[in-house]
Amino acid sequence: MLLIINLMQKIILFFSLLLVSIGALAQRDTAAFTKFNSFNNAVLNGGIKKVEAQKQFDMVLKRIALLEMLRAEFIQPKLQWVFPLKGYNSSAIGGTHGNGYFDKGYRYLDGNKHGAHPAHDIFINDKNQDCIDDRTGKPVNVLSVDDGWVIACCNEWEPNSNMRGGKFIWIYHPKAAVFTYYAHNSAIFVKPGSYVTQGQKIAEVGRTGYNAYKKRSPTHLHFSEFKLVDGIPVPFNPYEQLKKARTL
Ligand SMILES: [Zn+2]
Repeated sequence: MLLIINLMQKIILFFSLLLVSIGALAQRDTAAFTKFNSFNNAVLNGGIKKVEAQKQFDMVLKRIALLEMLRAEFIQPKLQWVFPLKGYNSSAIGGTHGNGYFDKGYRYLDGNKHGAHPAHDIFINDKNQDCIDDRTGKPVNVLSVDDGWVIACCNEWEPNSNMRGGKFIWIYHPKAAVFTYYAHNSAIFVKPGSYVTQGQKIAEVGRTGYNAYKKRSPTHLHFSEFKLVDGIPVPFNPYEQLKKARTL
């Protein structure tokens, strides 16, 4: 009996120590994510060297790898995405058969001044441009396509700002080792270091961003996918994944 009580005490002690250390680590990680977020903003404002960018991505991905180990989940990567707009599917993607995507000339390090359009614009029903869906009378929820970590985001944007992404979110998906990017939101509901699950609401569709705010631009989500190549995010076309994605 005494032996069992002793063992129980040890187990309780072990778990409380584990909880304390996870808590401490999570706190340190908030700092790591905040640091990365400021770095990403610095890229947008220009003047960052490639070596520094590689170092920063390496730092944040190592943190995520550690956190994933602590989560100790042995779930399989989800092969099928959730479509990033609630109640919509790939028919809302702009262009013909996804031809709105072109990545030639895009460089992450060029920040806000980048060329090309390494993304798909996904349009909502919003004739009067008030960011309310004409069919439902409600804002349209932006959903994370897969499980992942929010590594950077911007929750501030003013109509006179020349920043093109407006209120945006970057998510890293460790199991597929890819990043997704969601821009022009009206409001965002996550912060750097947040863990999000597939289909979780992260934002609402909006018109923030230098071009997205203009009258000639119909209300849409600007959506991209990136892989790290030599420590720098490089876009690739997510059209096939978007076509196969499940609508929530
Ligand atoms: Zn776009």
